[in-house]
Amino acid sequence: MENGIYSENCITDFPPITYPTQVSLITGTYTGDNRKELCHGVPLLNWMGRDWAPPMLREYAAKDLQIYKINNDMGNNCQTILEMVGDGNTASIAQFINRGSDYIFPERKTKLAMFYLLMKYLPNVKRRMIRANSVIAQKLIEVFEKPRKFFDNAEPPIASLLWFISSDLLMHKFGFDSHIYKLNLLHIDKVIGVLIDNLKRMGYLDDTAIVVSSDHGNYKANEFGNLGNFFRKRGLTNYHPLRNLRGNMDLAYYSGGGFFNFKGNNDLGFKNSWPHPTLKELKSYGAKNVNLLEDLFYIKGSRSMYYRDDNNTFNKGIIHLKRKSKDSEKIITGRIEYEGIGTEYKTRYTTDDHDDIFNFINDIKASRLLDNRFHSTQEWLEGTYHLDYPIHPDLIPRHFKNPRGSDIILSNDETIKFGIHHGKQKSKNLYDHDLGLRKCMAVPLIIGGSLEIPSKHVPCCKITDIVPTLLKFLGKTPHKSVIGRILL
Ligand SMILES: [Zn+2]
Repeated sequence: MENGIYSENCITDFPPITYPTQVSLITGTYTGDNRKELCHGVPLLNWMGRDWAPPMLREYAAKDLQIYKINNDMGNNCQTILEMVGDGNTASIAQFINRGSDYIFPERKTKLAMFYLLMKYLPNVKRRMIRANSVIAQKLIEVFEKPRKFFDNAEPPIASLLWFISSDLLMHKFGFDSHIYKLNLLHIDKVIGVLIDNLKRMGYLDDTAIVVSSDHGNYKANEFGNLGNFFRKRGLTNYHPLRNLRGNMDLAYYSGGGFFNFKGNNDLGFKNSWPHPTLKELKSYGAKNVNLLEDLFYIKGSRSMYYRDDNNTFNKGIIHLKRKSKDSEKIITGRIEYEGIGTEYKTRYTTDDHDDIFNFINDIKASRLLDNRFHSTQEWLEGTYHLDYPIHPDLIPRHFKNPRGSDIILSNDETIKFGIHHGKQKSKNLYDHDLGLRKCMAVPLIIGGSLEIPSKHVPCCKITDIVPTLLKFLGKTPHKSVIGRILL
């Protein structure tokens, strides 16, 4: 770290869940409408595919290996860093986002899934953790040592992806404050040391840049909630393509942040199609005419709500924002307007009150951006990285621009979590990381290795800056979709 580039304030993507964050990390761009603009197509861990009738439910963590669809779901209007490096061998070790990789470990699909399932379910945590971390570094060392075994020539890889998933699994199960979690971080540090020692021994370290980062941070809720009664009373039932076509809601994902899909009436000419609903429909939804834009705030722990305006397009639109005041007596309202695409994309964030949705108004730096003007991603980064909800006025519209994005996002105050995946309660632990809080969104970034990397402390950066920075070292040009900046 001290000989290279580092930052304590690398801001990840929204929502800070493994997907979309890892896709953004590996492509250097964010999500959006990838039919019409250069970006990736993955909005969330779970999403509803409305191009189909009846709609399709994507769930990357499901046991039927939907995770392997992710390389396709990203779309062709973005590239992974492995695709961007062009000629030369590439390797992907225990990373599912591996488009453009010449060698993938484990070699078989089912084996990679098994690898993660073993981590999750077998007894003797410590031994499993040591094995899972070691095998990742050992495999890459082997690829460097015997390239002919893995590629059709004798060249070592020029770019490699590695994913140590053990820290996420242990964090959810035992907590970020547990002994085993801390031991695991030390162990990952140790195996990276083993990797560095071996690269040195083989004479490759001087030409190597090693990036270490995380896709999200974490928080701990106080209690676990149940929403069965809340939905029953309002006539909201979960849709399922095989079990319940009559459902009128898809709660795609809800831990501390809720991502809701609702069925609009606008007839697309297909039976059982799910157009995005209009604001009028959301205000009087279903047989009980529920005003969703007010009623969802009765959910315990809910803090703020975000939803699209009618007639938004990929390059222009409005996102409406609401938040309960501190005493919950009043609802504060505001909006984000966006225009332009790619590096021309800008957003304007305004409030109707003396207070604002993200509490930027009380900060000297951030409040300057509430000047009724449009601002770039970099301006939002520099003005808000030190606060909760960093870069939110830029990131939230990107989720809603994606047709796979949800209709309403409900964000909690971190006291309670629900653990819901497509309407079903899945997780039962209090540790999570899906909120816009700084502790979930700000992660460390270290770029070290070769002594040719300049020493530099970066006050703040984005997860999408990693790809263009690494390509610069290699003398390669990033794909046109890349939003990140070179950290040099
Ligand atoms: Zn996680």
